[in-house]
This record gives sequence, structure tokens and C-alpha cells, in this order.
Amino acid sequence: MTKFLDTPIEYLKGVGPVRGEALRTEASIKTFGDLLFDYPFRYVDRTTFQKIRGAKEGDTVQLVGQFISTEEARYKRSGRFSAIFQDESGWIEVIWFQSVKWVKANLKLHTPYLLYGKIGRYSSRLNIAHPELELFAEVSPEKLARLVPVYSTTEFLMTKGLDARGRRKLMEALISQFQPEHVPENLPLYLINKLRFMSRYDTLRAIHLPGDDVERQRAEDRLKFEEFFFSQLLLLAARNHRKLQIPGIPFVQVGEKFHQFYKEKLPFALTEAQKRVVKEIRQDVGSGHQMNRLLQGDVGSGKTIVALMCMLIAIDNGYQCCLMAPTEILAQQHYTAIHNYINDLHLRVAFLSGSVTGSERMSILRGLHNGSIHMIIGTHALLEDTVQYHKLGLAITDEQHRFGVEQRARLWAKTEGIPPHILVMTATPIPRTLAMTLYGDLDVSVIDELPPGRKPIVTSNRSEAHRPQVNTFMEKQIAEGRQVFVIFPLIEESEKLDLENLQAGYEKLRIRFPPPQYQISVVHGRMKTDDKDYEMQRFIQKKTQIMVATTVIEVGVDIPNATVMVIENAERFGLSQLHQLRGRVGRGGSQSYCILMHSYKLSKEAKERLQTMVKTNDGFEIAEADLRLRGPGDLTGTRQSGALDLRLASLTRDHKILTAARNIAQRILEDDPGLKKEINRPLLKYLSESSTLSKEWHRVG
Ligand code: ADP
Ligand code: MG
Repeated sequence: MTKFLDTPIEYLKGVGPVRGEALRTEASIKTFGDLLFDYPFRYVDRTTFQKIRGAKEGDTVQLVGQFISTEEARYKRSGRFSAIFQDESGWIEVIWFQSVKWVKANLKLHTPYLLYGKIGRYSSRLNIAHPELELFAEVSPEKLARLVPVYSTTEFLMTKGLDARGRRKLMEALISQFQPEHVPENLPLYLINKLRFMSRYDTLRAIHLPGDDVERQRAEDRLKFEEFFFSQLLLLAARNHRKLQIPGIPFVQVGEKFHQFYKEKLPFALTEAQKRVVKEIRQDVGSGHQMNRLLQGDVGSGKTIVALMCMLIAIDNGYQCCLMAPTEILAQQHYTAIHNYINDLHLRVAFLSGSVTGSERMSILRGLHNGSIHMIIGTHALLEDTVQYHKLGLAITDEQHRFGVEQRARLWAKTEGIPPHILVMTATPIPRTLAMTLYGDLDVSVIDELPPGRKPIVTSNRSEAHRPQVNTFMEKQIAEGRQVFVIFPLIEESEKLDLENLQAGYEKLRIRFPPPQYQISVVHGRMKTDDKDYEMQRFIQKKTQIMVATTVIEVGVDIPNATVMVIENAERFGLSQLHQLRGRVGRGGSQSYCILMHSYKLSKEAKERLQTMVKTNDGFEIAEADLRLRGPGDLTGTRQSGALDLRLASLTRDHKILTAARNIAQRILEDDPGLKKEINRPLLKYLSESSTLSKEWHRVG
């Protein structure tokens, strides 16, 4: 940052201490630089005007006219204020609800104004509330001929005279002092030429005061590119750094156990995608550098077997391995599945969770420490200090969105010297754009193919009116020997109500599906682990036909005989959660069904969510829709890159720019890993001088 950009905001003409304080607290604008990088959120085309006559409700209009009277009495008690605005075609009422005092004191009658606002309606009268106003005499002719920026503001800022127009005035003051040397070029010249960008100075000027729409677009293109480019540069540099600097245990051979398993034990042929991923991982772990790989695969795509094969490679090379799952049930299930797969390979596999205690626990801890246990599967109990390995070579975490980054880091710290290889498995498909920005420093493998013979789940969308048909359908499936999940939402904020709701739903089901013919399991998050497991087991052993549950079963549980998933209040679930839940059925060979029960009144967004579920089974398509509907904030929650600050760019709309930025960053780093070449000097300078980026750069550069 240059001195100019660091200047405290109150030194700007028109700001001073009071407005300065307001800008600092309300808009986080502390310096000239903060103001400069606070871009308009839209632009108004001031080249065309409208007439009052002919304006319709909902129109955004720009009018020239005068106020001919005020009508204070009309709203006296409500604290509102109104005035009549007239042009040569007619008149319209203008209303203020806020800053009334200020408007009353400053509004001039019989003086031409330029008015910009939106036509609304109150009972039968059209009106305009809180328009932007400018004395026509003060509007420069040049301004009338271009796009006018609109900045976001708040009620409080408005009381300080910083409405949209006030904010614009500040920007004009800033731009009048703004010089090219205040913003040194941060992109190399060859890149600017190649991408046909304007200079950084021209770009920043143009984003605030564009001459025309073409110029605005060019400025926006460059700024969006920069937003992605510098974060990609950092992420890729981090990845390169790790690859070059951090040694990994070389697993030089694919040995006996792996081959024995592959040839004799594997109960099915691997899908092409599984083969590809195993190969990618083999290359990683054989390279002598630490593997840090994210394995993405939709629910049911067969990640467990891939994890197992990787663990066998570790064991073949004389190392131990661990697999950590977020819940007891899931960990147990992994343990059982893996145990069955490899039961006569003569390996010692153990299970560890909070519920493993006493001498059993002691014996496991000892076995891990002296190396006699090859493979440990468990919950976050694996992170405890008492868990010490003889030689840990590979750490796998499943369903990673439940673990934080730090927790993963703690797995690394389990060994002195060379860290273990890391494989992170997630069943939450992350859209490509998001993966690139959030996990850009990890290598990514994708299983994009389901095992053969799976029938796509048939999903439907039903309201309470269809309850009898839904029950009849369940009855038929149960008669065919199938099992049914009925899922109720449960969130902390409305936990009590939600539990009552679940209880009520359970009672109704018991009346419709009475014992002894029908048995129903209930599992929810407030139950003791033992009780939960007991109920779970009854369902797994087919002693019950229906399982009423909250989302605790969302992750991982594999019950191939369950073919119907009924989700109550489906509108309350997010898309990726619905997809996860649906993934609990359709795991055997039979046709499976997902029924989304919803209330009568649905928001537009909820409707779209449910329709997306009905339309597609593809987790990536669903993830894209989720990103579009919700924005990226909620999707991951576990990881924020400090360098990613998207002001203009959007992960959904601008994926082309993102891809280009990533490719270019990659090529530059391949050619010049430390950005030491003269031509890349602007990059290095920018990265090492920026307050937010320099820390990350120093870590990896
Ligand atoms: P997820 O990716 O959701 O963890 P799993 O690893 O649990 O999926 O696999 C889901 C089911 O598919 C399991 O029952 C597993 O045995 C089966 N499966 C995995 N790979 C294959 C394959 N290549 N062919 C047939 N079935 C497979
Ligand atoms: Mg799984």
C-alpha cells in the first residue's frame, strides 16, 4: 500500500471526524484505500430521462422537475414527510420515512431537481419513497452523459449525509486526488497486454467513474481476474512449496497384501473411476513427497474400498495407517466392512472410540505404540494424546466436512520426522469452482462414476394431502421385504419443537403401522449412544421395518435393504443435506425411492431446491445449484482462505475467469516458482507489500 491509500479517511475533503467515525464503524472504511476498493454495486444510466405521466408501479425512473408543496400534515403522527414533485407531464408524491428532519430542513421548493427513484404505490396513489435528489444546477453536463455509480449505504450513514449521492461525492473527491503512482501496477506487462487489460490506475478509475459501459466492463473484467488470480497464485505456491519442501515417506512398492487383496479378495471389479483414483494415489505416495489429496465421490460411489487399498499399500511398506470417521456408527461400519474384506490377510485391525475403555483400550494403545496393530479405525478418539504410533504412514479422514482443518493437522503431528500421507474423503460434492478456490492447495481426485447396476433413485415431491398414498406406498414396499427411513428435521434453535414433531410423527406411524406386524425404530441425536446403537442394530438386522430418525443417519450408514426414504418438512433441509440423506437408499440392487414431504406454503427458493432434487441424482449438479441458491458461505464452513476476498467476482457466474486465472497462475509458477524474474516483479512486489497477502506469501514463497 502506498501512503496515499493509507491516509485516514477523515482527511478526505468532505469527511472530517464525524463522518470518518461513521464510515469506519458502519462500512469498515478506514482509509483512502478502503474507499477506493469499495466498488459501486450498480450504475445508473443517466443518459435517458422519463416523464411522470406514463410511469408505472415498479419502474425505476429519472425525472427532472420541481417540488411544488410539502404535505407534512398527511403523515404528521407517523413521523413521515411528503412532498409533491411536478414535471411538465404531471405530478407524483414523494415520501420520506427516515432522515425526515434533514429532508425538511434542506428540501428546496420551486427549484429544479434531478430525481432518481422507484415508483411505488400506497393505496391507490403512486409515489416515490426516498429518491436520490440532486439540484439540477449542480449536475455537471458531463455527468449527465455517463454511467453514475451507486454505492451501498446504511440508515446511519444517511443521517450523516452519506446517502448514495453523498457517497458518490466522496468518491469524486478521492478520484480528483488519485494519481497513477498511488497504485503501482500489480500485474506484469506481458499479462496486461495479453489479456488486453487497462492499466491498474485506469481500471480503478473506470470502475468508479466509467465513461461508458464498455469501459466499465473492461474494468470489471480485470478486477475480477485479480480477485481470483492472487488467491490462486498463493494456493498453488503453497502446493508447490509442500511438494518440493516437505518430504514424504516413499511407499516404493505395491506389495504382497495389496496384490493378494486385489486378486483374491476384491468382491467386484473396480469402476474405471476407482482404478484411476487408486493410480493417482499410488503415484503420490511413491513420489517421495507428502500426499495431500482430497478424494471426492458422490454418496455410494465406493470410496471405502479405495481407502482400504491405499491403507494396504502403507502396510506393505511397513507403516501403520488410520481411518477416522466423524461418528461412532460410521466408524463402526467402516471397521466392520474393512474387517470383512481383509479377514484372512493376517493383519491386525483395531477399532477405537470413546466407548472402548479399560483393558481393551490399553491393549489397543499398546499395540499402536509397538507397531503390532497395522490399521486403526475410529472416531476423533484417535486424536487424543494417548494415541501414539510406532510408524504412522497414512492418515485418512472420511466425510471431512465434519472435521476442522486443525483436527486434520493434529493427525499429522502424530509422528516425529516425516509426516504421514493425508487423504481426505468427502461425500459432499464441491463444485469445481469452489474446490479450486477453497482446496486449491490440495490435489483433488474425483470418483465420478457409480458402481454398475445402480438404478437411479426415483424422487418425488408430495404435500400433506398425499399422505394416504405415501403410507400405502410404504406398506407395499414393506410387504416386499424392504425397509423405510422416515427422517425429521432437527435443529438446535427449535430442538424442543422438532423433537415433539418427531414424536408426533412416530405416534401416527404406529397407528398406521401397528405392532406386532410392524416394528419401528427411533433414533435421534438426544439419545444415549448405546440406545442409538441398539436401535440402529435392530434396523440393520431387519427386526424393524421403519426407522424414524433425525439427520443423525445422514452420514454414511449403509443399509442396502432400505429402499424408501421419506423426508418430512423437506423444505427445511439444504440441498446438499437432502442429497446426503437420499444417498442412504439406492445402495442395493433394487429400485429405491425418495419422497420429499413438504408443507403447502413454500418459498421460491425452497421450491427450487425440491425441484432440483426431483430432477437430478447427480451430486455435482446439486452442489452447483446449492452454490447458486445459497452462495458459497454455507457450503464448507471448515476452511476460509485469507486471500480470497471476492468483491466483484462470483464463484457461480465467473468460473471462466477463475479457470483462466488458475491456469495462468500455474504457468507463471512453473516458469518462475519464487517469482524472482524481472518480468514478474510487479507480482512479487504486490504480494509482499499487501497487508493481507504478504503473510501467506512469506509462508510459501
Ligand atoms: P461411499 O463412497 O458412499 O463411501 P461405499 O464405499 O460405502 O460408498 O460403497 C457403497 C457400496 O458400493 C458398498 O456396498 C460397496 O461394497 C459397493 N461398491 C463399491 N465399489 C463397487 C464396485 N466397483 N462395484 C460394485 N459395488 C461396489
Ligand atoms: Mg462412505
